[in-house]
Amino acid sequence: MITIRPNLLFACAALLTLAGCETGSREADSGEATYAGAADLGSFCDRLPRPKWAAFDKHAASNDWFEVYEIEPGIFSIYEPWQWQEVISWLIVGTDAALLFDTGNGIGDIGAVVAELTKLPVTAINSHSHFDHIGGNHRFDRILSVSMPFSLERAAGFQTEELLAEVSPDALCRPLPGDLEAAEHRVRPYTISGKLEDGDSIDLGGRRLEVVLIPGHTPDAIALLDREAGFLWSGDSFYEGPIWLFAPETDLEAYRTSVARLAELAEGLTAVFPAHNTPVADPQLLLELQEKLDLVLTGQIEPEAVGDGAVEFTFPGFSLLMREDYYRINTDQAGSMKLCCTRRL
Ligand SMILES: [Zn+2]
Repeated sequence: MITIRPNLLFACAALLTLAGCETGSREADSGEATYAGAADLGSFCDRLPRPKWAAFDKHAASNDWFEVYEIEPGIFSIYEPWQWQEVISWLIVGTDAALLFDTGNGIGDIGAVVAELTKLPVTAINSHSHFDHIGGNHRFDRILSVSMPFSLERAAGFQTEELLAEVSPDALCRPLPGDLEAAEHRVRPYTISGKLEDGDSIDLGGRRLEVVLIPGHTPDAIALLDREAGFLWSGDSFYEGPIWLFAPETDLEAYRTSVARLAELAEGLTAVFPAHNTPVADPQLLLELQEKLDLVLTGQIEPEAVGDGAVEFTFPGFSLLMREDYYRINTDQAGSMKLCCTRRL
C-alpha cells in the first residue's frame, strides 16, 4: 500500500493527514471486525497486536524491529508492526533457492533476518516499487524486476520529506532500531540484476511461482502465484485495510483489469498473502473487491470525503481510498470507457 513514487508522497502525505499521522495506520482487521474507515482510525499503536497474528507462532528470528512468522512450511512473513505501514515482506524457501518478495521499509536489517532463516541463495523481487517495499533492496545482490521506468527510476535511491515522515515519532510505536538516525533514512540505491515478465515461472525446488503482472496500484505491480498450493501473494493490490488508489501513478482502469484477473484466480486459491497488516486473507475477498470496485468506478456508490482531496469507499474487510477528482469511469453512448476526471499529475 502505499508506496513510492516520485509521488508516493502525495499518497503518504495525504494519508498521514487523513488519518492524522499520529493516529494513522492502514487499519482494518476483517473477519471479526469490519473496517470502519480512515476517518475512524485511532492510534495504530494501541491496536497492536492485530488479533489475526495470534493464530501463528512468532519465530525465533524475530527481533526488536521485525516479527517473523512461519505461515506455511517454508513461507515466512517478515512483519514490521512498529511502523504505521505495518508492511509484510515474504520469504519463500524452496529446496534449492529462496525468494524474498519485498524488502520492507529499509529501517531494520532485513538481510540479517533472512540470513537467519535460510542459507540458500536469495533472490529479491518487489511486489511494486513503492518505498515501503524496496527499502531493503540494497542488502541483496540478486534482484529481479519488471523492466518499467517506474521500477528503474527508483533503483537510483531517494530521500524525500515524505519518506522522512515515515520515521518520525508519529509514525512509530518504538524507537528506530540499531544506529539508524531518522535524518539518514532513505531508499538506498540498488542494482537490478535481471528482468521479470508476466507469466515467468520461478522454480525454487519443490515450489514453483508464477509472475502475474497486475498494473494499477502502480505500473509495475505484480503478484506471485503458486498454482499447486493455491497461494497468491497480492502485494498492495489487495490487503485488509484501506487500499491506496490515490497516488499519481495509480491507473484505475488498469487496476480494474488487474483485479478482474485476480478474481478469476480466486476459485483456485486457498489463501491470499497480502503486503500489509494481516498475513492471510480469504480468496473470496478478491471477488468482493472486483464487485465493489466495479460499483465504485461506474458511479453506483457515493464516496465519503475524508479530507485532503481524498474520498473513501468502505466495505467489510477493506476500503478504497481515492482522489476526489479520480474515482469514477463513465461509459459514453458508444459504450467505450473513459475516465471522468482529469488525473492530477
Ligand atoms: Zn505498500
